[in-house]
Amino acid sequence: MASILIVEDEEKIARFVELELIHEGYQTGKAADGRTGLFMAESGEYDLMVLDIMLPVLNGLEVLRRLRKTSDMPVILLTARDAVMDKVSGLEMGADDYMTKPFAIEELLARIRLALRKASKGRAVQPCTVLTAGEVSLNVEAHTVVCRGEQISLTGREFSLLQTLLENKNIVMSRDSLTNRVWGYDYFGETNVVDVYVRYLRQKIDDVYKIQLIQTVRGVGYVIKDNG
Ligand code: CA
Repeated sequence: MASILIVEDEEKIARFVELELIHEGYQTGKAADGRTGLFMAESGEYDLMVLDIMLPVLNGLEVLRRLRKTSDMPVILLTARDAVMDKVSGLEMGADDYMTKPFAIEELLARIRLALRKASKGRAVQPCTVLTAGEVSLNVEAHTVVCRGEQISLTGREFSLLQTLLENKNIVMSRDSLTNRVWGYDYFGETNVVDVYVRYLRQKIDDVYKIQLIQTVRGVGYVIKDNG
């Protein structure tokens, strides 16, 4: 679970926030002045900082300005009501979000969850997703399909249909289900659109390489099997 640093000189607020965070399962640290807060934030031990603006020694905006030289840790500012300038400068200086005092703890918790989620998304290394069946492989990120070392040129919908079938390998997909996934739930075009696109794919893949990639399951739909 994430570690949250609370930098707030009003002991009552700091303690209340800390107890709520511990209750939610977070680890916490506290600082009651800006200099200590900055020092703790720079230690790299915390995943997010809740930072009050009106602080002794160094104010919150100054803490943020200095922190941003070395760290992109998520920061949620606590501002006094109507301190519009503080909000604007805070966001310009790289705060991720702000809360106006007095605030509902549920809202702060929600904003913390959101900021942590965004930060972890930014950090995550996207794995390269390659879907295969027999001699056919589809690279989701590169948007390429290869069979026997040759690249197959597909349109966007053809690619989506093939990707959907490969993602659900060995599962028979109904026409409805394929239509919803590839064309969207609001699709009101030709009802046989899936059949038409399966035909396109077969012309480009099955016919060329003499394989049976997409199998028809009579009365049900289509499936790509592992030994395609
Ligand atoms: Ca304060």
